[in-house]
Amino acid sequence: MQTNFSLDQLARPDLKEMETILRKCVHCGFCLPACPTYSILGDERDSPRGRIYLIKDLIESEGASVDAVAPHIDKCLSCLACTTVCPSGVDYRHYVDYARKQIEGLYRRPLGDKIFRKLLGRLISSPGLFRPALLWARYLKPFAGLASRRFAPALGMAPRRVAAKQILTGRHVYLAEGVKRQRVALLAGCAQQVLRPSINQSTIRVLNRLGCDVVVVYGEGCCGALVHHLGEESASRDRARALIKAWEQEQNQEGLDAIIVNTSGCGSHVKDFGHLLKDDDEWRAPAMRVASLTKDVSEIIDELGLPKRGAVGDGVRVAYHAPCTLLHGQKIDTLPERLLEQAGFVMMPVKEKHFCCGSAGIYNLVQPEIADMLKERRQQTLQDMPVEFVATGNIGCQRQLQSGLETPVVHMIELLDWALGGSKPPLIK
Ligand code: SF4
Ligand code: SF4
Repeated sequence: MQTNFSLDQLARPDLKEMETILRKCVHCGFCLPACPTYSILGDERDSPRGRIYLIKDLIESEGASVDAVAPHIDKCLSCLACTTVCPSGVDYRHYVDYARKQIEGLYRRPLGDKIFRKLLGRLISSPGLFRPALLWARYLKPFAGLASRRFAPALGMAPRRVAAKQILTGRHVYLAEGVKRQRVALLAGCAQQVLRPSINQSTIRVLNRLGCDVVVVYGEGCCGALVHHLGEESASRDRARALIKAWEQEQNQEGLDAIIVNTSGCGSHVKDFGHLLKDDDEWRAPAMRVASLTKDVSEIIDELGLPKRGAVGDGVRVAYHAPCTLLHGQKIDTLPERLLEQAGFVMMPVKEKHFCCGSAGIYNLVQPEIADMLKERRQQTLQDMPVEFVATGNIGCQRQLQSGLETPVVHMIELLDWALGGSKPPLIK
């Protein structure tokens, strides 16, 4: 793609990087049918190619076109389905991240939207605040229809039952059963451990059984993915540095073979810490070390190998919903299904597996209409399947799909835990 960046702009490393990304796009349009927002809205400005043009215009106009650009970038899910199909290898992820950061600084959002976005970013990423908020939301849920357009979707999404408090705070070490094979850190996360603490408990149990000491060094810790997707670059970098510091200390003291993440949205973000802090001389190298140690929970299980199949999994039918952040963000495709099959579950084929469920961080709260359309499309493919469980690998997808599905939607690690002797994953609606 031809660009008209000024010489001054090209002297800036961040804009030089954007120009290099842009030049790779050959306008072929292969990304259009893969894009969820284009497929439901049919407007080229809500497609990857359209957004690439809009962001180019934003840069060339030095921000003057922000009012025309921002609504279409806001509608982008950052699902990265476009990157999987792009034959030219356009790095849309960092391109749209750059745009979000610029928009956050330039765009005048209505004050209510601004406050709402800030509030969500802080509340959801802090378990100590998020849990009490959910407890209150249960009482307000029946009145969701009376709430303002901003708060109604958030109340509608609140679970009817809030899981017992099992937030991992401070430093914990969970010792391997039998012979120790590896020492790994687990990202405790933020919203996930409030909404479904059984995911961390299952992860620890399975890793212990497979011979890993599991250390949690940053309890109540958000990796910053949420605020990053809201364009809050500085807050996102601060969170990354705090996590890197904690993991580096652990690495220097007792050593770490891997850092395990069981929320694919966070995993995709942590694996990108090297890029996030590439201009920070002090943190660049540690960030790259952390990123290279990071693995999705399915990757470490594959590496360690599952023991002979358990009795529970035999014959239990499961449909797997691939989270975009695992499938497109981390390019982990059939591995979770393969592991479930090895554990004895019967995997049923799912249609349109590349298609986003509309969760996408807090997209379902800030773009509820589009998110609902995507959710319904995804639920339609799953609701009539003759399965006992829908498995996934990201808490956002789990909550999004469960709201409206009777079949329990669970994390794949909970099913593996069950097959290896743990308890049956709970249904939380
Ligand atoms: S990230 Fe997803 S929603 Fe955004 S342009 Fe790419 S395919 Fe479309
Ligand atoms: S598929 Fe890639 S090269 Fe083709 S239009 Fe989309 S982003 Fe550009």
